[in-house]
Amino acid sequence: MNHAGEQGTLFVISAPSGAGKTSLVAEMLRTDSRLGVSVSHTTRPMRDGEQDGMNYHFVSREEFEAMIARGDFLEHADVFGNYYGTSQVWVRETLGKGQDVILEIDWQGAAQVRRLIPECVSIFIVPPSAGVLRERLVGRGTDAPDVVERRLSEAEEECRHAVEFDYLVVNDDFQVALQDLLAIARSHRLRMEAQQVRYGDLLARLSQRA
Ligand code: GDP
Ligand code: ADP
Ligand code: 5GP
Repeated sequence: MNHAGEQGTLFVISAPSGAGKTSLVAEMLRTDSRLGVSVSHTTRPMRDGEQDGMNYHFVSREEFEAMIARGDFLEHADVFGNYYGTSQVWVRETLGKGQDVILEIDWQGAAQVRRLIPECVSIFIVPPSAGVLRERLVGRGTDAPDVVERRLSEAEEECRHAVEFDYLVVNDDFQVALQDLLAIARSHRLRMEAQQVRYGDLLARLSQRA
């Protein structure tokens, strides 16, 4: 239930490519109806099985640069040689309706968002080892070998920024990692500051002498 004036929480999730963030976020959305995910814009080529408007809004470099110039992005970054960016309007409007929003973005984007929206909750996901990360990226079968190598070499740089985040989740057993992520979202909603907005009337009634 949304209460008047209640702002949604912004969850920022980063991880090295192949750590499992897209699969985990998809399960979070199925499990928790209060969560929504921002669909980023990107200039990278569409993978088999991806849909424009679902996984990403796929745009040309020219269109992306025009969007930067118009100030359409909350944040944007160059990741693995392609542009990626988050829509400013969609995120602000959705949070304004009291709905929680997840951003699946790289560490550079996360740093920009933390500066703009300091009350956001940031989560870093890691694989249990570098070997497992390689197996997952290769096993996913969506990227050419040179792209996989580039993503693996960038993983070290991404992981150097893990300590800048509020929470760390290790994605070894998928279900455990999923429950960890859902627990972060749930406990964040139970903070007194947030609960007072929702249950101010109840607290007042319970505090009154009968
Ligand atoms: P994946 O890492 O295997 O899911 O590969 P993707 O090609 O989907 O994402 C590539 C990188 O771009 C990841 O590091 C994402 O976190 C990052 N990314 C995706 N969307 C955005 C965005 O809107 N903004 C920023 N800054 N980074 C993004
Ligand atoms: P990311 O979005 O971080 O690049 P994906 O969600 O695409 O990662 O996951 C990469 C691959 O690893 C996918 O094929 C996914 O099914 C698999 N995967 C994710 N989490 C686990 C896990 N805990 N155990 C085994 N395989 C996993
Ligand atoms: P992929 O090309 O595999 O879909 O994504 C590669 C990386 O780009 C991932 O680490 C993902 O988190 C990041 N990414 C996706 N969308 C955005 C975005 O809108 N902004 C930023 N900064 N990074 C993004």
